[in-house]
Parts: sequence; C-alpha cells; structure tokens
Amino acid sequence: MPSKDAKKKLKEYAAKRDFKKTPEPGPEAPAPKPKKAKPLQFAVQKHLASHLHYDLRLEHNGVLLSWAVPKGPSLNPADKRMAVRTEDHPFMYVEFEGVIPSGYGAGVMALWDRGTWEPAQGFEDVGKALAKGELKFSPNGVKLKGSWVLVRIRRKDEESRQEQWLMIKHRDEWAGDVDITTFAPQSVKTFGDLANILAGSKHANAFEHGAPVQGGETGKLFRKVISDAKALAAKPTALKTSKKKTAKKAAPKKTSKARK
Ligand code: MN
Repeated sequence: MPSKDAKKKLKEYAAKRDFKKTPEPGPEAPAPKPKKAKPLQFAVQKHLASHLHYDLRLEHNGVLLSWAVPKGPSLNPADKRMAVRTEDHPFMYVEFEGVIPSGYGAGVMALWDRGTWEPAQGFEDVGKALAKGELKFSPNGVKLKGSWVLVRIRRKDEESRQEQWLMIKHRDEWAGDVDITTFAPQSVKTFGDLANILAGSKHANAFEHGAPVQGGETGKLFRKVISDAKALAAKPTALKTSKKKTAKKAAPKKTSKARK
C-alpha cells in the first residue's frame, strides 16, 4: 500500500493528466506483486571416493557451482582450505545423498550441510566474482554460517587441470576452534554417517567384492565404513532410527490441538 505521502504525490500526478486521453497508467494502477526472489540453495556433501573430500555447492544461474574441499571447511579463520573447482552440477544434486556403486565418484556421499546462501555486498554479480577469482559469501546452513570467502590461487593451466581456490572463514560470531568435520560428521538429511547411508542403500552390497580404493588412508576408511555398515545391517534397529524419527514427524497428531 502506498503511504499517505505517496498517495498525495500520486494525486498530483493524476491532477495533471486526463486518463481518458493519455495512455499513461492511472494512479490506481496496481503495482505488480513483488516477485519474491527464491533464495539461492547451498549444500556440502561429504564424499568418500578416490579420497575423502567435501563438495561445496552454490546455486548460480540454475546450476550448482562446485568445489571439492579435501580437508573440508574449517570454522577457524586461520585455516585456508584448498578447494578445487570442479564441473558445475545440475541443480537437483543439491539434495543428493547415497551410494555411487561404480564409475565416476564411486563411493558413499552424505549430505553434510544444506541451506541457502547469498553473495556478500559487492559480490552480487557472481559471474564477475568468479571471473575475478574472489567470492565473498554467506551460507546459511546447519553447520556453516556467517561470512566466508573463496579466493582463486591458481588458474587452469597445462600443469593444473582445475582451478585451485582457498575456502576461508571470516572472523565473526560463527567462527571458532571447533573442528566441525569431526564434531558434526553426520548427514543433515538422514542423521547418520557414511556407514548408515551405505547400510540403508539399495546398493548396500556394491563394495562386497572390494572397495573402490584399497590402499592408504582411503582404503582403510572404506574398509571401516563397509564393516560398520555390515554391523548396522545385522541389527536392524540401529538402522531404522532415523526412519522412525521421520515417520513420527510425518504422522498426524491425534490431539484436538493438532487438528486446529
Ligand atoms: Mn565429490
């Protein structure tokens, strides 16, 4: 609704015109309803594949800008986490969690954080920021909040097939010393960790004849996830915890209060 003052101004506007004669809009012409801009979506996926890493996804122009962060995000502004720019992903990937049984990215992926994001003031032109190699932004996830920056430190060249960036937390009330990847390792979608996701997947047996990676730390981690998943599958109650929770939430309450 226009304010009193605006109405007065509109009266002045109207007084100067004969709307039977001018094609200009009259003072009562309704303004179009402001289009509520849909907030941009944000996710981080914890992905055990050729190695454990965290995939940062920021919605932009209908796709997800993506960076693979080997050590995962850190809330400590002193940490500069390597973030390798990877190919844009389709928008729907923002909800994905599950087992990739074979091929590219084979392994287990947890939706580790999820929410919305916005570019910082002065970085609203995200395309320009990417071209320049600096994007200040604020995720509003479950685990990651406040002000962050992505800074490109290396362009694609003959030696480096992918752009290298750093992901850094700015000092604010959401910064801190807590190691967020170990403090909050689980999925924000199903509340379990990688083993729960593997155990609950239709591809639960995908790695029965061997993990996608055998050697080193990654091989060790795969073996642990696979054996933990087997143990979980052997006692179904442990598996169903998160499903029960969801079912409870979805079930209508029987009290009259809930019906209002
Ligand atoms: Mn990945």
